[in-house]
Amino acid sequence: MNLLLSTSVQYVPRVGPRMAKGLEKLGIRTVRDLLFYPPFRYNDFSHTVPINRVIPNSTVTIEGEVQSIRNIFTKTGKKIQEAVVGDASGQLTIIWFNQIYLPKVIHPGNRISLSGTIGFFGTKLVMQSPSYEILGENGQEHLHTGRFVPIYSETSGVTSKWLRGRIAYLLSIKHFLLTELIPRTILQQHQLMGISEALSDVHFPTSLEQAERARKRLAFDELFFLQLTSTLRKKQWEENEHAPAFQVRENDIKEFVQHLPFVLTNDQQKAIRHIAVDLKHPYPMNRLLEGDVGSGKTVVAACALYLAYKNGYSSVFMAPTQILAEQHFSIIQSLFKEWNIPVQLVIGKKSAKASHEPLKPKSKKITSPTVYIGTHALLEDRIPLQNIGIVIVDEQQRFGVSQRSIIRNKGAGEKTPHFLTMTATPIPRTLALTVYGNLDLSVLSEMPKGRMTVKTWVVASEKRASAYEWIRKELQADNTRMFLVCPFIEESESALTVKAVKKEFERLHADVFPDIPLGLLHGKLKSKEKMTVLDAFRKGDTKILVTTPVVEVGIDIKEATIMLIEGSERFGLSQLHQLRGRVGRGNQISYCLLFTQTQDPRSIERLKILEKVRNGPELSEYDLHLRGEGDVLGIRQHGLPPLTLASLKDRKLVEEARVAVQEIVAQDPELSHFPLLRETVEKDIIEKPIQD
Ligand code: ADP
Ligand code: MG
Repeated sequence: MNLLLSTSVQYVPRVGPRMAKGLEKLGIRTVRDLLFYPPFRYNDFSHTVPINRVIPNSTVTIEGEVQSIRNIFTKTGKKIQEAVVGDASGQLTIIWFNQIYLPKVIHPGNRISLSGTIGFFGTKLVMQSPSYEILGENGQEHLHTGRFVPIYSETSGVTSKWLRGRIAYLLSIKHFLLTELIPRTILQQHQLMGISEALSDVHFPTSLEQAERARKRLAFDELFFLQLTSTLRKKQWEENEHAPAFQVRENDIKEFVQHLPFVLTNDQQKAIRHIAVDLKHPYPMNRLLEGDVGSGKTVVAACALYLAYKNGYSSVFMAPTQILAEQHFSIIQSLFKEWNIPVQLVIGKKSAKASHEPLKPKSKKITSPTVYIGTHALLEDRIPLQNIGIVIVDEQQRFGVSQRSIIRNKGAGEKTPHFLTMTATPIPRTLALTVYGNLDLSVLSEMPKGRMTVKTWVVASEKRASAYEWIRKELQADNTRMFLVCPFIEESESALTVKAVKKEFERLHADVFPDIPLGLLHGKLKSKEKMTVLDAFRKGDTKILVTTPVVEVGIDIKEATIMLIEGSERFGLSQLHQLRGRVGRGNQISYCLLFTQTQDPRSIERLKILEKVRNGPELSEYDLHLRGEGDVLGIRQHGLPPLTLASLKDRKLVEEARVAVQEIVAQDPELSHFPLLRETVEKDIIEKPIQD
């Protein structure tokens, strides 16, 4: 069978369906995946010596002829395999343990290469548990011994040795399937080796430097394609998508701003400017508004909704949860009363009554432009969305590609509405440009004036009791509340997590705060129950809300002054920062207490960063360095290709790839000189037409 990069890995000779299952656990599905599966380290078996030159404690390779091999079963039940190997200079005994099949595989007379450490067995100098390979078999020599040997992440049934063999096979036929996609000028300019060379060197280098150079080339590719794809995607978006071009009058913005109960921050003004410019274009805005919790994104969104109304268009404002949708609804509704703008709440079927008028079936009649605020229920067929000028999505990572395509043609005359997505996930700016290259970016890095900083303490376990005492005193005042967040036990909110928070709730109720009314909130509650719990908390009927990390992102409770986080070592700094943004929203001094269950000084050190640093993007930089990009960016959530070799931490390489992309697009925007490159990127764009 002719192997292509996209061929399923099971068709690689000697893989088959059973091994393919094992490979899948390693994320390897295609020939390409296997070929690009990088080793995480190498064993240096490159030092080959004559047998009479081996010295104790050295790691070496010897080559010779097998003289004898046998199993020894000791009285104490040990199973030892002992072989004698000789070369022109002498003989050496080789010892393995518990591999009784070896005498069936290795036979006297075989030419063999062995790599391992020299030591003593009793008083005898031996080579212990070496890697071995019989030379002259399969026409492949020195894959597992006598060189830098790649070590891969393994899973049961899939060993490094086996992977090595299959990868070496692919490399031996690679000429049929690998083409160089990166233009030669770019390779030269950035001193990068060719793709074939890089692949063989990353698996089978002759030195660590060579391995490193290979790794750099492959990492460059990942970053280059990531950025080239998003750059071209953006270009196509601007050329092919048509949006209603708004007229934005200076006076409209003024009118809106004048009716706000506060003065906008500079960043908010800037973001509104950016949006106003975008909305005038005949192609849809595709902007990301990034700002810490509490930075005031909602009012920026409201301004965009207002501009849509002034232009005669309806608009959609979508929130990730019902509670947030209702919060947005009440804020926007009271703001828009001033201008009699119809605002409609659209949430789940059962609670359709909660919206103020029943939704009328689709009619041809042009109704007055309406602001629709709601949850995913907005996307259901029964919702007569039409004449939509702008779609705003709060907390974009929960909004998928398919959902986006549903609203895509709801604009006037089948046009695509303008898109604004908002996120509180702080991302260092340079990374945001790399990862979201197809989006325009506005950042609210400045907090509204008068916002209290949240005093943050890491609470050692011996201080727990006194912290509870302090909390009890604080909560005596009427206008105070506390969130108590328990970590997810597993990856997401599983039954196990819910059980843990219920247990914590019981414990607090019985032993710690028997005199204080407590509420319990978790994702397994029905929406209505959640509302009841939150209402009680808002009103002060309960003073402590015990909850999983679902504490609705963005919930705005002015009286909440204390955020207590249990098991805080389980969270990323950015996550903790977002959680502490739930408090300090009124005008009272607020606190964040980080409880831990660990004594590990490094974990404590990491948490203590929060005591000093209050800036979201800066904290995400720390996360990036301490935990890795997956945690910071939620890369999988964003549907980005996983970076296997590249790291966004490698700023220099990220920047090199960015420059390379910009140069190539500037010189040859259609990539007409690089048809293969264009084909690859276009395929990617077509397969994933819209990126979140
Ligand atoms: P987030 O960015 O987390 O969505 P919100 O939009 O919910 O933040 O704003 C948080 C709080 O700050 C709200 O109560 C809002 O009314 C208030 N706010 C927003 N902008 C300003 C401002 N410029 N000055 C004072 N308060 C503001
Ligand atoms: Mg918000």
